[in-house]
Amino acid sequence: MPPLHHASLLDTVQEASSIKLNNRIYDMQAAGVDVVTLSLGEAFFDLPVPSFEGLPASRLHHYSHSRGLPLLREKLAKYHASTTGVPVDPDHEILVTAGSKAAIFMVLTALLEPGDEVIIPEPLWVSYPDQVRLARGVPVMTPWYDTVEDFASYITSRTRAIVVNNPHNPSGRRLGAEELRTLHELADRHGLFLIADEAYHEFVPEGVEFVSALVLDPEKRHTVVCNSMSKNYGISGWRIGYVLAHRQLTDQLIKLQQHLVTCAPTILSYYLAEHFENILEHTRPQIQRVVSLRNRMARMLAERGVECLPGDATFYLFTSLGASRLDSEEFARELLDRHRVAVVPGVGYGASCGGFVRVSVGTESEERLVRGVSAVASLIEETR
Ligand code: PMP
Repeated sequence: MPPLHHASLLDTVQEASSIKLNNRIYDMQAAGVDVVTLSLGEAFFDLPVPSFEGLPASRLHHYSHSRGLPLLREKLAKYHASTTGVPVDPDHEILVTAGSKAAIFMVLTALLEPGDEVIIPEPLWVSYPDQVRLARGVPVMTPWYDTVEDFASYITSRTRAIVVNNPHNPSGRRLGAEELRTLHELADRHGLFLIADEAYHEFVPEGVEFVSALVLDPEKRHTVVCNSMSKNYGISGWRIGYVLAHRQLTDQLIKLQQHLVTCAPTILSYYLAEHFENILEHTRPQIQRVVSLRNRMARMLAERGVECLPGDATFYLFTSLGASRLDSEEFARELLDRHRVAVVPGVGYGASCGGFVRVSVGTESEERLVRGVSAVASLIEETR
């Protein structure tokens, strides 16, 4: 058969590197290989299998409001108002969709003209640059060692937005209030949008402050927050994410939503709206456990002379390969082949990140985690 034609736009994007790697691990596990999996982008929680008992049976199987179920929007608005102090209008300033991945893509599609530039700090979440390309924009990456003050030097007349992930996958860093102020000033001065992906915002140590980007722009003049129930609620497979933004933007996003997904999954939205507070109560202690596990693993690596980028949040460590002679892809391959431990090569997080690997502590028992993290430290020592 002759090769099928595909749009050349797709030649500019790649499969998401971490997802591709995890597909290989699923195959190995299916073949009976025991892999210590430090490569998954989620934390597994102990959650009850949902019962849809008591929900309006006649509505659960069907399409629902394309802005999101009104009760779910109300709960989300209240939750964000109480955690940030910023009022959110559930009727106009929220759009619930099929995961924050879809939310970010819709926002980029709604904001960019062809050729518009979007500043993306490395280490970057793998989907940002390709989503910008799919929205006909141009991703402009900044290296991992740049600070928010350095972003100004990347701004051109075509720059339309800056994307930040806070707290940060893969480093676990939280942006401080001063850094956020600098970003808002840049957005104001240059007429940019600040797209803040806050999908991990519950994953901060107890007693430590998380500052949402909304706090410094409560009117949402230039701030768009993309968020998700995937991580905080431990339900990544449910595909529920949302956007908090000015109504002028959500009025545009709703068109994309209606032509792409219609509505977020109805049955799950009903369940979440009904059990909103209970689920969070159930996951919060588990979130705290995984965050403190993250910080214990960081200390363990530090004791073996292995450094990670600074951070105290999420369940990720962006671990430096230090003096290892292997690049991040060779390292991850060697670690999998020799030690049966899976991590994600840093190069997937940007060209400046080839000297790192991402370690996730979210899905393994502590005993297996210690084994996996020790193997990372040992392989760094062995390949010096
Ligand atoms: N943003 C970041 C930084 C992520 O790590 C992820 C998932 N790995 C997402 C967004 C997407 O999450 P979801 O689509 O499940 O809401």
